[in-house]
Amino acid sequence: MEILKKRILEDGTCYEGGILKVDSFINHQMDPMLMKLIAEEFARRFANDRINKILTIEASGIAPAIMTGYTMQLPVVFAKKKEPKTMRHALSTIVHSFTKDREYPVSISAEYLKPGDRILCIDDFLAYGNAAFGLIDLIRQSGATLAGMGFIIEKTFQHGGDQLREMGIHVESLARIKSLENCQIIIE
Ligand code: 5GP
Repeated sequence: MEILKKRILEDGTCYEGGILKVDSFINHQMDPMLMKLIAEEFARRFANDRINKILTIEASGIAPAIMTGYTMQLPVVFAKKKEPKTMRHALSTIVHSFTKDREYPVSISAEYLKPGDRILCIDDFLAYGNAAFGLIDLIRQSGATLAGMGFIIEKTFQHGGDQLREMGIHVESLARIKSLENCQIIIE
């Protein structure tokens, strides 16, 4: 997606350890006009996957997921990082956070993920795939079907995407970062 790549090169900054900061348009301040185009691109790429629900993980997946849900006219569910006491029939898993270097539990109510659902997972970044594997585990526990996974930015050098594609999952990423070495952003 050319407009996204251009924006990453113009406004993205690079941090030690292979981290790309896009706080000025995705992760802190958000650009809804760009997010709308991102959602339309996801809708186009997953148009034939018979999706009936979108799943993401809080917090940074929520903006692209809700915009995609609006565009595709589908409900959006987000996995929560803290299980509220009031959550009924919680499904839970553990995710390792790449940016925070710690493990955290994520939960979702089985009320919102049912056998028969065909799920599109949306997130901001795909790095090693840990968040994605957490969502896959929640979908597996619920008995729903994973229909596809869409990421705004994939860092291909961290290889989470390779693993997901080897599992036969329909994965789409809108900008693929080949390298952040020497704090230089190289996009495929
Ligand atoms: P993974 O679980 O695939 O290793 O990492 C994906 C998650 O970590 C995403 O949900 C995202 O929030 C965060 N993340 C991974 N790499 C980056 C990065 O380079 N920049 C930012 N801002 N977040 C990242």
